[in-house]
Amino acid sequence: MPAYEYQCQKCQEVFTVFLTLAEHGHKRTVCPKCKGRKLTQLLGGVSVITSKKS
Ligand SMILES: [Zn+2]
Repeated sequence: MPAYEYQCQKCQEVFTVFLTLAEHGHKRTVCPKCKGRKLTQLLGGVSVITSKKS
């Protein structure tokens, strides 16, 4: 099951949602913190965060 990472445009909360492709097309994803619906989908955010090496 793919994970989708979103950032809320209202409270800036970043959260991950696990949805099938079918669910992704049907379900209305809302922010778990403020229930806001203005979300920005982050692409490849997880790999960017974990690539911190010095
Ligand atoms: Zn929010």
